[in-house]
Amino acid sequence: MSLISVGSMAFDAIETPFGKVDQIVGGANVYIAYAAGNFITPVQMISIVGYDFPKEEMEELKSRGAQLEGVEIVPDKKSFFWSGRYHLDMNTRDTLVTDLNVLADFNPVVPNSYQDAEFLMLGNLAPSTQLSVINQMKKRPMLIVIDTMNFWMDIALDDLKAVLKKVDVLMVNDSEARQLSGEFSLVKAAKKIMEMGPAFLVVKKGEHGALLFHKDHVFFAPALPLEEVFDPTGAGDTFAGGFIGYLAKTKDISFENMKTAIIVGSALASFCVEKFGPNRLKEITKADIDERISEFVRLVNFDIDLV
Ligand code: AMP
Repeated sequence: MSLISVGSMAFDAIETPFGKVDQIVGGANVYIAYAAGNFITPVQMISIVGYDFPKEEMEELKSRGAQLEGVEIVPDKKSFFWSGRYHLDMNTRDTLVTDLNVLADFNPVVPNSYQDAEFLMLGNLAPSTQLSVINQMKKRPMLIVIDTMNFWMDIALDDLKAVLKKVDVLMVNDSEARQLSGEFSLVKAAKKIMEMGPAFLVVKKGEHGALLFHKDHVFFAPALPLEEVFDPTGAGDTFAGGFIGYLAKTKDISFENMKTAIIVGSALASFCVEKFGPNRLKEITKADIDERISEFVRLVNFDIDLV
């Protein structure tokens, strides 16, 4: 059983109300791999980096279960660079710089050794790039999860609609769900989006948790109220990695099991925000994760007598 994860590997510069880093490793796929590697190995990564991406980070990823055969290293170009500044609420941010560098020429190739993967996580990238990975799979994976953002809805809506027809789970935030569907009510938005292809929809609401939709069912998971939120960068990707990693570990893609996967994803994301970049994800152990999941159970469990 294995999992393919596709997405950016990057350098980020991040400014939050609590601090600033000028250059830290980031990129959606780095967060996905660190999170998913807690549940399933190998995490078969597909990405592209430049000459400047740190070898130590590659080694760290490998030591946490990542396979890097699908990561192309371009010897004469720089890695993707992204810079963002968070507002005081930490839920909203401005993108200051996006230097595509190697990502401008990214034509992902699925290595032969990845062809048996049963789970496919498509991190936020151009929808045509995401589609090319699906089309290269000789056997359709059991579950395809896709993340996207408003940027692609603005500039590549037709491509996005084409890829949505081929996936099982879409992950977006609440404003993106509204933009994609043209509906304010998230229940109506979910119905419209599920008619576009994915049988499941996850709507992320930052510090307010996440919703899972499937047919007429809906499940809500809160985010853990945290004392320290240092840097939310990558929380969505970490959530996605925890979600699909848990599903791949349990090999169960039912709605019931996805409820647990949402809690697992939320637990992983709660670690991510505690330090800059993916640093906290490199420290956590299985015991830390178990304890955090128990905190979730205590948060939402209550006995009530019907009135
Ligand atoms: P998130 O906070 O979950 O939205 O993910 C942030 C990560 O996404 C950062 O580490 C960035 O390097 C990466 N990122 C930002 N913009 C893009 C983009 N246009 N394409 C691919 N990756 C991106």
